[in-house]
Amino acid sequence: MLTSAESLPLTSVANSSTQPNPKRFCMENLKVIVVGAGMGGLTTALAMRQAGYDVEVYDRVKALRPAGAGISLWSNGVKVLNRLGLGSEIARIGGLMEQMAYYDGKTGDVLTRFNLSPLVERVGQAPYPVARTDLQQMLLSALGADQVQLDKRCVAIEQNANSATAIFDDGHRATGDVVVGADGTHSIIRSYVLGHGTERRYVGYVNWNGLVPVSDELAPPDSWDIYVAHGQRASVMPVGDNRFYFFLDVPLPKGTENNPDTYRQELSDHFSGWAQPVQTLIQQLDPDKTNRVEIHDIEPLKALVKGRVALIGDAAHSTAPDLGQGGCQAMEDAWALASYLATTNISVADALQRYQDRRLERVAQIILKARKRAEMTHGKVPTKTQQWYTELASEDGTKIMAAIAQTILLGPMH
Ligand SMILES: Cc1cc2nc3c(=O)[nH]c(=O)nc-3n(C[C@H](O)[C@H](O)[C@H](O)COP(=O)(O)OP(=O)(O)OC[C@H]3O[C@@H](n4cnc5c(N)ncnc54)[C@H](O)[C@@H]3O)c2cc1C
Repeated sequence: MLTSAESLPLTSVANSSTQPNPKRFCMENLKVIVVGAGMGGLTTALAMRQAGYDVEVYDRVKALRPAGAGISLWSNGVKVLNRLGLGSEIARIGGLMEQMAYYDGKTGDVLTRFNLSPLVERVGQAPYPVARTDLQQMLLSALGADQVQLDKRCVAIEQNANSATAIFDDGHRATGDVVVGADGTHSIIRSYVLGHGTERRYVGYVNWNGLVPVSDELAPPDSWDIYVAHGQRASVMPVGDNRFYFFLDVPLPKGTENNPDTYRQELSDHFSGWAQPVQTLIQQLDPDKTNRVEIHDIEPLKALVKGRVALIGDAAHSTAPDLGQGGCQAMEDAWALASYLATTNISVADALQRYQDRRLERVAQIILKARKRAEMTHGKVPTKTQQWYTELASEDGTKIMAAIAQTILLGPMH
């Protein structure tokens, strides 16, 4: 399997200039095992394939179904898709989000409304909110749905100097030059890389989300509208096919009842007295197609790689969704990892180490920034949240767009 010079000791590379080996200076013909076929794993598989590598993808489920209804792909995520040749496809399935507005949830008064074009001009690419099933379908079609081996739960990892192996619960062993742990927030490969388990930390609020048809009663069709009051949020943003992705956030203790039969009543109680569009949203949502999530994150990790095994996506960084960056970071990871493998020539472990060096601080900052924002928007210190509402009323969009642009441009796709 290993045909590149990365299996040679460094000294033999340095001393063998009289016997040139054309393969010695790049890691060609690698075989990459990807565990997990979420948006992170699928993007990794596409990036590795574009780099010319053999890729095998495994997932524990019998049928792939994305968790959650929609996702906002900010420009850094979209830029990765552009590099993978999926630019027109994501533009086709993504929503046209041209403006953004905050409202006082109780009175319905506009706090601020602004056009997002200065942000797009600053970062060079529009964001695309997208339905998760559409995103998954796009990635799967690009890869080939039959390329994912389903019903394969990874239970262990092994590696030696020349290869790494993912071992599955049915006894199957997948051996390659690299194993990528894209197995999400409950990752078992993370435990292998770190040598210990990690605790998920409750961020302090519950999020209901789903899709509803676009309607003027809710928001202008090209706008991300957000109603805020008392540390709660109600929001819609446009995704493709004339739908809004909605979410409603409520700070609640951990472990409250989760029963779709009572979602509508519960939300009506939590948002009692809020502006009419919020009431309309609660009446229009389909409780059986609504997701309810207790929002967690994980402290930034100290390592993302071990030898030939790398973590990406939520396995590497579980973040609160308050910057809309978890999935975008998974895409940045995928691109960065494939790039280091394709462009360096020392060893697989060296390329993975470079990946870690580049990504560790970036993803740690995203986790901490998202946590801080979650606390500020969800009333952890009520006076701070109130101050934010006051600031929103004098905002013309400049500060909000500058903060979003900074998050995007600090990554590799600037
Ligand atoms: C409410 C909410 C809103 C969000 N909004 C945004 C947003 O607007 N923008 C954004 O960028 N991000 C957002 N995120 C974050 C985003 O959803 C995640 O970061 C992203 O889905 C992570 O993708 P992943 O591929 O790493 O993990 P996952 O999507 O969790 O995929 C992991 C895959 O691994 C498989 N798997 C797990 N264990 C094993 C095993 N042992 N063996 C084999 N397979 C296994 C699973 O079946 C799954 O298919 C949001 C998250 C939440 C909760």
